Amino acid sequence: MCVCSAQDVDVAIELARQGHIITTFGDMIRVPSTESSLTKERGVGADIRVVYGVNEAVEIARKNPNRKVVFIGVGFETTAPTIAAEILRGLPNNLSVLTSLKVIPPAMEILVGIVNFDVDGFITPGHVSAIIGSDAFRPFAQKHHVPCVVAGFEPLDVLESVRMILQQINEGRADSENEYTRVVRPEGNVAAQAVLKKVFRLGDASWRGLGVIGDSGYYLRDEYAEHDARLCFEIPSIESVDILPGCRCHEVILGIAAPDECDLFGKRCTPEDPHGPCMVGHEGTCRIRHEYPEI
Ligand code: SF4
Repeated sequence: MCVCSAQDVDVAIELARQGHIITTFGDMIRVPSTESSLTKERGVGADIRVVYGVNEAVEIARKNPNRKVVFIGVGFETTAPTIAAEILRGLPNNLSVLTSLKVIPPAMEILVGIVNFDVDGFITPGHVSAIIGSDAFRPFAQKHHVPCVVAGFEPLDVLESVRMILQQINEGRADSENEYTRVVRPEGNVAAQAVLKKVFRLGDASWRGLGVIGDSGYYLRDEYAEHDARLCFEIPSIESVDILPGCRCHEVILGIAAPDECDLFGKRCTPEDPHGPCMVGHEGTCRIRHEYPEI
């Protein structure tokens, strides 16, 4: 949610205002856009429905054959395969997908190019790696001479991955290693990769706080254009603003600023009423700091 662009939310809001049913994950409806959020739109009568997966959007579309239903597909390589698989099974004619799906490795390339971005190693994401595999980060590690270690989500996983990074540094190595061996394979989930390739093409995507990154987003291939929400509806051009006045999410995302260095933290911006995307989901840096101030 933290890097979901305001433009994607603004488009979803526009479709909601056109009277269509919008379906998406719970956190997504609270992500602030340029002037509103899906939660605020729901408060004034828009038909916004929270679902746990695209399969529930399919059910809603089947039960409402006279309405247009839009599913906002948001997330990384982890969530994209389930969406792709549902598209391959065949969507109802009245269901379209608004993709806001991001690909991780191109964003890492941008991070190392930032001046003064002083990072000695990357803990690479276990859930993404379950799909793309730990080997996917090897070219990056070797090209930039930065150790990468795929980690699981338990505290001991993180500690062990830090130890493995330190070991690489001590030995003068830079490779992609895998701490999360109980889930992640070096080659990843080959079947999921095949489904992704069949349904999606790569294209430039806008990341909140990072800007537009080449080939970092999944978009529906031409064969599935009839279910591409960006093509199914008249969407006027929208001047979106990613970072609202006072919000320092772009610096928080890069690790340049701590959440409590933002003047709005805990005042104008709280988990109940987030002003920036980093305060929305349980994985958001500002949200975590707000919930665990003692850390
Ligand atoms: Fe943005 Fe809120 Fe975090 Fe400030 S506290 S950086 S407004 S999310």
